[in-house]
Amino acid sequence: MPLAAPDREIRDRALALQKTLVDWRRRLHMNPELSFEERETTAFLEETLRGWGLEPVRRTPTGLWADLEGGGGSGPTVAVRADIDALPIHEANAFEFRSRRDGVMHACGHDGHTAILLGVTRTLLDLRDRLPGRVRLVFQPAEELLPGGARPMIEAGVLDGVDRIIGLHLWSLLPTGRAGIAPGPLMANADAFEIRVRGRGGHGAQPHLAADALAAAAQVVVSLQQVVSRMVDPMRAAVVTVGVFRAGSAFNVIAPEALLQGTVRTFDADVRARVREALSRVAGDVAHAFGCEAETDYREGYPALVNERGTVEVFRAAVAAQMGEAALVEPEPFMGGEDFAYYLLERPGAFLFLGARNPEVGAEYPHHHPNFTIDEAALPWGVAVLAATAWRLLEAPLAREG
Ligand SMILES: [Zn+2]
Ligand SMILES: [Zn+2]
Repeated sequence: MPLAAPDREIRDRALALQKTLVDWRRRLHMNPELSFEERETTAFLEETLRGWGLEPVRRTPTGLWADLEGGGGSGPTVAVRADIDALPIHEANAFEFRSRRDGVMHACGHDGHTAILLGVTRTLLDLRDRLPGRVRLVFQPAEELLPGGARPMIEAGVLDGVDRIIGLHLWSLLPTGRAGIAPGPLMANADAFEIRVRGRGGHGAQPHLAADALAAAAQVVVSLQQVVSRMVDPMRAAVVTVGVFRAGSAFNVIAPEALLQGTVRTFDADVRARVREALSRVAGDVAHAFGCEAETDYREGYPALVNERGTVEVFRAAVAAQMGEAALVEPEPFMGGEDFAYYLLERPGAFLFLGARNPEVGAEYPHHHPNFTIDEAALPWGVAVLAATAWRLLEAPLAREG
C-alpha cells in the first residue's frame, strides 16, 4: 500500500526545529513541576497553543488538549500524547539549565516529551492544508504519581471522538538514532503490597511464651520467593520484590509485629491475579504456621501497556521513512509502569521507545537518577516519527483488531 505522507517535508521541518525544541525543553527543565501541580507548565502550553491559533481544552486542573483540524480530507481522529510532570528528586547535574527548584526535577524526560509534542503541533500546523484528518494533541499531567493523570483526562473526555492514540518515551536504554517498538506488552502491571505480620511480644529468653512476628515474617519473605518460581508459568514474566522489612525494637525483646512492603510486576492479567492471590495465601498460611497472623494489603498500580499490532506496523513504517530502516530495534519489555496503558484499554494504539542515550553528552544515567538527562539530538526524531505516524494513521485508517 503506497503511502503519500509528506515524509520529506515532515523531516525537514522537524530538523529545522532543533534549536526551538532545545529552548522549549530547557525552559521546562529549569521549571519542573510535580505531578498534579503542573500549573505554570500548563499555562505556558496554553499560551503557546493559543498563539498558534489553536483552542486548548482544559477540563482538569492541570494538563490540556487541543485539536488540529486538517484541510486535506475528513479522515479519522488520531491523538498524540505527551506527559508533562517532573519528579521529587533533587537534580545533581551542574549544567546551566538545571532545575531551578530544589527537590524537583525532570528526571524521566517528560520535559523532552512536552517539547516534542509542541514540535509535532508546529510541524503539522505548517502542513495543515494537506493533513487528511484531525490530530488531538494531548498534554497529560501526572504520569509519575498514582493514580496518574491519564484516567482523569479520559473521564474529562480526552478520548471522545478519538480513533487511535500514539505516544513515546525518550529512552535511556537505547542510543540516540534508534527506536524500539513491538506489538504486545511493552510495560508492566506495577503493583504495591504491604504485609503486616502480628504475633505476641515477650522476653527474648522466653520464646515459648511469645509468638515471634520477626521470625515468622522472615519465613514469609523466604516463602514468597516460591510464588514466581513455583506458581507462575515459567514462560511468563513476573517479579515479586520485598523492599522493606521492619520489625523489633530491642535485642532482647521478641517483636510483636513485622511490616513487609514490596512490589509485584507482571504483564498478563491472569498472572497478576494469580500472584496477588498467592501472595496473601502464602503470607497468611506461613504466619499461621508460626502462631502469628498476616494481613495483606494489595494495591494495583498502572495496568500493563499493550501495543496494538496495526498501529505498531504504521509506527515502524514511519520510523523507517524518517530515521532509516536501521533505526528500528526490538525493544526489551520494561518492568516499569506507564499510565499510557489506560488509553490503550480504551482505544487501539501504540507506544514507542525513542533512543536518547549518548554518553558523550552525559546522557547515560537511568531514568529517575539525579544525574539523568537526555540527548537533545533525539528531540527532532521524536517530532518526525510522531508526525509521520499520525499522518499515516489519518491517511489509511486501519480496521480495529478483533
Ligand atoms: Zn518516570
Ligand atoms: Zn516517564
